[in-house]
Amino acid sequence: MIQRQPLWSLLTLLMLGMIVLSACGDAASGADRLPALPPTVTAVPPSTPTELPPHDPIQLAPVNWDEIEHFRAAMRPAFAGDIDAFVNRNRYYIEASLTFEDGVAIIYGAQRVRYTNRSADTLNELVFRLYPNIPALGGRMVVYQAELNDIPVAPSLSERETVLIIPLDKPLAPGDSAEVELQFSTAAERGMFASYGAFGFQDQTFSGPEWYPVLSVYEEGRGWWTERPTPNGDAAYTESGLYEVLLTVPESFVVAMSGSEIERFPAGDEQMTYHYVTGPMRDLLLVASPIFGKLTNVVDDEITVNVFFWPGGESAAEEVLRITSDAVHIFSEKFGTYPYAELDVAETFNYTAIEYPGIIVVSDRSWVRGNTFLEIATAHEVGHQWFYGLIGNNQVQQPWIDESMTSFTEYVYLRELYGEKRFKDTVQGDRDWYNYYKSSGAPDLVLDLPVASYSDNNYGVIIYTKGPLFYFELEKLLGQERFLKAVQLYFQRFRYEVARSNDVLTAFEDATDEDLDAIFYQWVGEFDGLDPAVVEEMKTRP
Ligand SMILES: [Zn+2]
Repeated sequence: MIQRQPLWSLLTLLMLGMIVLSACGDAASGADRLPALPPTVTAVPPSTPTELPPHDPIQLAPVNWDEIEHFRAAMRPAFAGDIDAFVNRNRYYIEASLTFEDGVAIIYGAQRVRYTNRSADTLNELVFRLYPNIPALGGRMVVYQAELNDIPVAPSLSERETVLIIPLDKPLAPGDSAEVELQFSTAAERGMFASYGAFGFQDQTFSGPEWYPVLSVYEEGRGWWTERPTPNGDAAYTESGLYEVLLTVPESFVVAMSGSEIERFPAGDEQMTYHYVTGPMRDLLLVASPIFGKLTNVVDDEITVNVFFWPGGESAAEEVLRITSDAVHIFSEKFGTYPYAELDVAETFNYTAIEYPGIIVVSDRSWVRGNTFLEIATAHEVGHQWFYGLIGNNQVQQPWIDESMTSFTEYVYLRELYGEKRFKDTVQGDRDWYNYYKSSGAPDLVLDLPVASYSDNNYGVIIYTKGPLFYFELEKLLGQERFLKAVQLYFQRFRYEVARSNDVLTAFEDATDEDLDAIFYQWVGEFDGLDPAVVEEMKTRP
């Protein structure tokens, strides 16, 4: 996600938005291939939830969980071996179809999920999150049948149907696995009303983050994560796993999804089935549209970069392809190698730009060649592949972990491509913005607070402006080379895993042999693992 938008870019966006909107008005090609839908622009808020029509359960064959060879296709050759460590991590096998009926885009799906208890605790339940039911996403997900180890089980729902609890018939000991089969439907009413324009069906394009029931995270000693996400910021908190998906869509649709397509075959009745696999990824975004054009590039001889764009968007798409290719190359060199075989970008109706594992979306409103925000937003979301995608975090409780470092990656991108002056000007622009914010009397909050502790305005400035400035100060203190060594160590330690504030501090201290508790306390605030003596001393300072 990117929120930081100085005034000039907002003005530019407004002006460009008008141009883009009028361009889209002319782009009617493909409309005749879609089922007739009511011409609503704004979806109905989910206070009156969409009634999902019942349908026959999808019969899933048993899954041989030891079979992992086919997942290697989603990895670059040198990283194909990373799959081995995920045999006993979160595993998903999903069969689903995307259909359009009565004004609603609906996914009918079934999934077998194998969960292995990697904690030292014995578990009495498994917890899934039904993210589309979050008001901020404005969709609707229903699980209408569940089995635990092939025996029907009655799940319970909580937190406004965003938490699905599967009771276990016998406790799951550390190291043991359980298999859950869920039959589900996910609906997106036409149009986007909810925050960020992340989920829904509009402009002939379906965009579905976490469109299937997603395993939540079990934190040792704390239990399953069941918190209701706030409307601000990103909602998902997930662990990496291997996904295999058989997705059927109308054959006129072009599909863009996390992971790599390994085959496709006609499914009859003008439908096409796509077979996807992923490397270790923490969730899946599905985007599909009959009006997508596609441009492709290969980076570092191995990474396929695809850009999916709407009619009229080809010229900007060429630029997005260049930006994405440069960014993935630069960040691979600086932070650690991008391990997946593919990275996709899709133009959608979202408000700015949003990151997902292996795929990012960029707003149609910024999709204009030469737009500076298009470049910054795209580079930012590519940076998230390292910070959020590969190194995960609880985005609701600790948004600074991925967002502040990712905002710093914008500096890295600009410095590498355009030189020191552009880099320094950007840092100065952020400083001016942060100082203006403080001088206006707004609270100068620390970085490590839950999203809910910030207002709309101070969330953007603290996390996205103060955050990268903190890393800039840290880089100044340590020197560029040692700073990057620390980021690389952090990446090596937490690639595919979940990081907390102390993990960032420890990586920087271990890589540089410096005591950094004081500067972390000053900018990031108090967190588990900080040296209490330093905290005490800093607190008593005048
Ligand atoms: Zn972001």
